[in-house]
Amino acid sequence: MYELVIIGGGPCGLTAGIYAQRSRLKTLLIEKLGIGGQIATSDLIENYPGFKGISGMGLMKEFEAQAAELALEIKYTEALSIKDRGQYKEIMTPDGSIQAGAVIIATGAKPKRLGVPGEAELIGRGISFCATCDGFFFRDREVAVIGGGDSALKEAIYLSRIVKKVHLIHRRDKFRAEKMLIEKALAEPKFEFHLNKVVKSVKGGVLGIEALELEDTRTHDTSDLPVEGAFIYIGVNPNTGSFDVEKDEFGFIKADKVLMTSMMGVFAAGDCRVTPLRQVATAVGDGALAASEVERYIESCR
Ligand code: NAP
Repeated sequence: MYELVIIGGGPCGLTAGIYAQRSRLKTLLIEKLGIGGQIATSDLIENYPGFKGISGMGLMKEFEAQAAELALEIKYTEALSIKDRGQYKEIMTPDGSIQAGAVIIATGAKPKRLGVPGEAELIGRGISFCATCDGFFFRDREVAVIGGGDSALKEAIYLSRIVKKVHLIHRRDKFRAEKMLIEKALAEPKFEFHLNKVVKSVKGGVLGIEALELEDTRTHDTSDLPVEGAFIYIGVNPNTGSFDVEKDEFGFIKADKVLMTSMMGVFAAGDCRVTPLRQVATAVGDGALAASEVERYIESCR
C-alpha cells in the first residue's frame, strides 16, 4: 500500500514525485510509455526559467535524474481506472491493482486530429504530429504545418531549418501563439502563409501525401496545395478517458483550487486538468501543489 500513486511521468508527475519523496511519502509513479511526456518531443524550450534554451528531452532528463537521486519508484504500466474504496483508492492496471491513500492524475494531453478524409490513412506516410521525430524525412521537401498556436509556430520554425519550404496553414488571420514566436515566424524566409484556410481533405496514396485540399473560410473556394508532409498542431485532447471523475465537455478534469477532483483523495494536475495555461512551468507548479496537498490530505486521514 502506497501513500501516493502518481499517474504520468511528464514534467508535472515528476515534479509531484520529487516533492513527495522529499516529504517522505511512500510514493509510486506509474508511466505508460516513457518518462518525459509530450514535452520530450519538443526540439527547443526557451521559456522555462533557468534554461535559456534546452531540448524537451534534455530538460526531462534533468527532472528524471533528480527523481532518481531521491529514489522515486517508477513502474511502467497503464492505469486503467481508479476505484474509491473509502479509506484507500485502488488503481487498476493490466498487471494487477495497486492501493494508495491518494492519487495524482498527471496524464497530460495528446495532439488533436483534424478529422478530415485521408488523415487517418496517411498517418506515418506524410501526416505527423511530431516535427522533431519526423522532420528529418522531409529534408529539402515542401511541407505544411497546420495551426496558429505556440506548437504550430515553434515546430514550423524548427522544420524550416530542415525542409525547402514550410506552408503555414491557419484558419484565421491572427495567431494565438506568443508574440516573440509570431515575430520569428513572420521573419522566416522559408515560410509561406495560407491564412483563413482550413484543410478539407488529405490527398495521397500508398507512397504518401500528394496534396492538401484547402478551403478559404471567407469565400469557400477550394484549392489543392501540393506538399509531401503535413504536421498537425491544432491543440490537444486530455488523456483522461479512463478516470471516473468530473470533467468539462472536452474531457479535461475539473479540480478545485488545491487540485482535488470530484473523488476525495484524487488530485488532477498539469495539462490534463481544466486550466487556462498549459506550459512546463505551469505543469511543474501543479505537480508541486498537488504533492503538498496530498501530504496535507494524508495527515488529515490519520
Ligand atoms: P492551442 O494553443 O490550442 O492552438 C491550437 C491552434 O490550432 C489554434 O491556432 C487554433 O485556431 C487551431 N485549431 C484548432 N482546431 C483547429 C481545426 N480543427 N482546424 C484548424 N485549426 C485548428 O494548441 P497548441 O499550440 O498545441 O498549444 C497547447 C498548449 O501548450 C497551449 O497552452 C500552449 O501555450 C502550450 N504550448 C506552449 C509552448 C511553449 O513553448 N511556450 C509550446 C507548445 C505548446 P484558433 O486560434 O482559431 O482557435
